[in-house]
Amino acid sequence: MAQKDFDAIIVGAGFAGLYMLHKLRGLGLTARVFEAGDDVGGTWYWNRYPGARCDVESMEYSYSFDEELEQEWSWSERYATQPEILRYVQHVAERFDLKRDIAFSTRVTAATFDEASERWTVETDRGERLTARYCIMATGCLSTPNRPDIPGLDEFEGGVYQTGLWPHEGVDFTGQRVAVIGTGSSGIQSIPVIAREAAQVTVFQRTPNYVAPAHNHPMSAEYEQDFKGNYRQRRREMLQGYFGAIAHGHPSSAPSMSVSDEQRRALYEEGWQQGGLGILGSFPDLLFDRAGNETLAEFVRSKVREKVADPEVAELLCPKDHPVGSKRMCIDTGYFETFNRDNVALVDLNAEPIERISVHGLKTARREFAFDSIVLATGFDAITGTLAKIAITGRGGRTLAQKWADGPEAYLGLMPEGFPNLFLITGPGSPSVLSNMMVSIEQHVEWIGDCLAALGGRTIEATPEAERAWVEHGNAVAAATVYPDGKSWYTGANIPGKPRTFMAYIGGVPGYRAICQAIARDGYPGFAIAGRASPPPADFVALMAPPHEAEAA
Ligand code: NAP
Repeated sequence: MAQKDFDAIIVGAGFAGLYMLHKLRGLGLTARVFEAGDDVGGTWYWNRYPGARCDVESMEYSYSFDEELEQEWSWSERYATQPEILRYVQHVAERFDLKRDIAFSTRVTAATFDEASERWTVETDRGERLTARYCIMATGCLSTPNRPDIPGLDEFEGGVYQTGLWPHEGVDFTGQRVAVIGTGSSGIQSIPVIAREAAQVTVFQRTPNYVAPAHNHPMSAEYEQDFKGNYRQRRREMLQGYFGAIAHGHPSSAPSMSVSDEQRRALYEEGWQQGGLGILGSFPDLLFDRAGNETLAEFVRSKVREKVADPEVAELLCPKDHPVGSKRMCIDTGYFETFNRDNVALVDLNAEPIERISVHGLKTARREFAFDSIVLATGFDAITGTLAKIAITGRGGRTLAQKWADGPEAYLGLMPEGFPNLFLITGPGSPSVLSNMMVSIEQHVEWIGDCLAALGGRTIEATPEAERAWVEHGNAVAAATVYPDGKSWYTGANIPGKPRTFMAYIGGVPGYRAICQAIARDGYPGFAIAGRASPPPADFVALMAPPHEAEAA
């Protein structure tokens, strides 16, 4: 008879779930993974839209836990495409023989904590019921696509494609009139590719985004060899980066408004020429100081005006209603130039909102359009969306949905209070989407692994006092930044009715890591282990110094 009880159940077989499984095996613990897709890969399994590619450099967007794996894998481009990343994940799954513990095409529907046995019962859409001491949610932050509630969408007789649920066989847009709704990262990556294929592309834009050029190029053998020859040092540099990535170029350590306009522009120009998201780190205060932020915002707008031939279209493509970085900055390959093509048109939804989708097209407040296909690049119910679809019940029959009705809360972003032995990988209240996800995933997996080893099977849970203190600390850190100014998926603003809170932790990767390390080292203050609670640290900020500095102090 198939095994029904495990040390741990892991939900999701993306980067987080796979490494968690590998880690638990190394600890001698039994684990079962459930995955909705029919293969590994998580976000890189689902997001197969044309042009899909990572916005973190490929040498830095990979696991660091195995040196042989680091050395044997070669990335072909500066920024890897979705198919290449998927091949990498599949390679990892084969290499570490992970698939034998994964149930594919299986969605977890419920997870219930039994207070008497202190175990989780997990149920799936295939009617399975398994139990485990620990339940680990590796469900991803961008894994529930947002299908907008536009009247008539279901009546459209052409093809409707969501970027986050792209057909595996691909879509041939040759000769078609295509509507693309949404101009976030997914739209910005896919629109140039679709425009090269389709007869006509009409882009429906609600909010323009700040976009930096990718300047993608084939991986140079020299760069790869240098990186591989110095991997440990490079990984350390990544951990020291605020966002878990290496600061390339020459970022200033001076405040942005303390230098001359020419010096500032020269630094932005260097970041622009280098390409990628690094331009946001040109000065240390760009995400904190609104005046400094506006200088970068205006620099980006000036680039849009240079690239787009029609001044009216250029102006519509210039973001003006939010600070740069407060919504996720995008990186592009030929996005703005695409609007110089004869077969591409931009529709400003602020001037003419969509009224409805019809059988053959779309009607705005001003016009009617006929389309063969509609692409929904409308994003995700981010960070909490996938957890909300699982009926997760903790102590006293309280569900996670009830607990999070006014916004998600979890101690360290790792454990919601009232849900013993339930861990979230890159959950709300952790750096997650504000960092290189690979770095944050590995940090959480390793912290959870160390925690389970220390527990030896005992039950752990966050105390209400610790969770409150962490949420207050996270809110205070966020309030000092420009992030809350953006109506973004970071705040739930993209989903009608979703509570508005800033969901990630913006204290930076090094500081957050130091806090988590200190908490593990000090015997897990703020948690109750086997019923014995200890108070949370009096001051999280005091724990943020890297361990060597704290020891020297
Ligand atoms: P997104 O950033 O949330 O963008 C969704 C777009 O759809 C926005 O322009 C949004 O407008 C629009 N939209 C949503 N609902 C709409 C409606 N009802 N009517 C009209 N427009 C609507 O989603 P995404 O582009 O999929 O990106 C999400 C995140 O995934 C990114 O921020 C990034 O972190 C990650 N991602 C990364 C990469 C990469 O690595 N390069 C690629 C793709 C995605 P508003 O802005 O007005 O809400």
